[in-house]
Amino acid sequence: MGFERRQTKQIHVGKVAVGGGAPISVQSMTTTKTSDVEGTLQQIYALAAAGCDIVRCTCNELEAAEGLAQIVPRSPVPIIADIHHQYKMALAALEAGVHGLRLNPGNIRKPEHIKAVAMEARDRNVPIRIGVNGGSLDPALYEKHGGLTAEAMVESALQEIAYFKEVDFDLIKISVKASNVPLMVEAYRQLSAVTNYPLHLGVTEAGPLPNGLIKATAGISTLLLEGIGDTIRYSLTADPVEEARAGRQLLESLGLRERKNVDLIACPSCGRAEIDVIEVANRAMRAFEDKKIPLQIAVMGCVVNGPGEAREADLGIAAGNKRGHLFVKGRNVAVVPESEMVEALVDWATYIHEHGVEAAIARVDTTIAEREAAKDRNALLEEKGDDANHSTEKIVEIRKTISGN
Ligand code: SF4
Repeated sequence: MGFERRQTKQIHVGKVAVGGGAPISVQSMTTTKTSDVEGTLQQIYALAAAGCDIVRCTCNELEAAEGLAQIVPRSPVPIIADIHHQYKMALAALEAGVHGLRLNPGNIRKPEHIKAVAMEARDRNVPIRIGVNGGSLDPALYEKHGGLTAEAMVESALQEIAYFKEVDFDLIKISVKASNVPLMVEAYRQLSAVTNYPLHLGVTEAGPLPNGLIKATAGISTLLLEGIGDTIRYSLTADPVEEARAGRQLLESLGLRERKNVDLIACPSCGRAEIDVIEVANRAMRAFEDKKIPLQIAVMGCVVNGPGEAREADLGIAAGNKRGHLFVKGRNVAVVPESEMVEALVDWATYIHEHGVEAAIARVDTTIAEREAAKDRNALLEEKGDDANHSTEKIVEIRKTISGN
């Protein structure tokens, strides 16, 4: 199952294709001073490891442009320079060898400056993102449209495109970000109806976790599901690695990018849980964080229902009587002490990743694990009954309350 994506023109940011059916790319931005070359490169490497395809760095001063000259050749991913106010910084960043520019039409407004940058980018074959931002819209457009509207943001982008066209530059991608989700969604919808340049999606200043994550996901995924968007960025008030992870995770869950990391699922826990599911799931999440094992792994609170409920997972563990019952595609394969559940998951996941599910099941005698699981399941059923959440008792009480007895 897939979504029909709108056809856009393809551009290249360094080695990464954007638009024209290319995989949707994940972007993020460094928070270091760009003049701090080592610190910035460290962050770029961490972002790349978290699944980021393109990284943006601010180029706000001469030292930043000089830093870019050293960062670009050592970066594992293409680098885009973020430019505000000073068009000369864009020229300096191009000189430094960046793979792309982001210009804010709200604060670089002189046509001769815009065209000077576009001509230089054209000669160097470097794309530019027209990065319209609701918070820094051109005041003239703000006034013309009676405030911040989707139409005003789209007009800002179209004005910039017109300047670029005058100098024959069309390596363009566009964003119309706002912190208000419905406004941002509307602006992108309108934009995609009037242009076929690739679009960079984002909810600007989405904020800290978890609210920022929810806002950004709401805006970005709404558009992606409509086929709009070629590259995305989560703007979170958090470590940028979280942005990269979120972007990657969103694309993987929508089936728009191939899974690279573990898809960890866990039961919500209930009266039957034999372990602190939240704690074990979080520990497992951390253990798999950098492992790049593209399997679905389940952490389940009890062996009574866990293996059945998560039978579609590649691998899972369910708790029972101080033991962890490991199962592969719903088949019990091993029993481990409760304290070793996460380590056992990592071992098995690594084995499955390298040798496949069949080989993993074949290396053990599943009858032993199945017998032990049945033992714990029966013991728990005996102890807690088949209604561990006391639902039947509650229903009796509810009926009494309603009937007034
Ligand atoms: S029945 Fe077991 S697996 Fe299902 S939610 Fe409760 S603890 Fe988790």
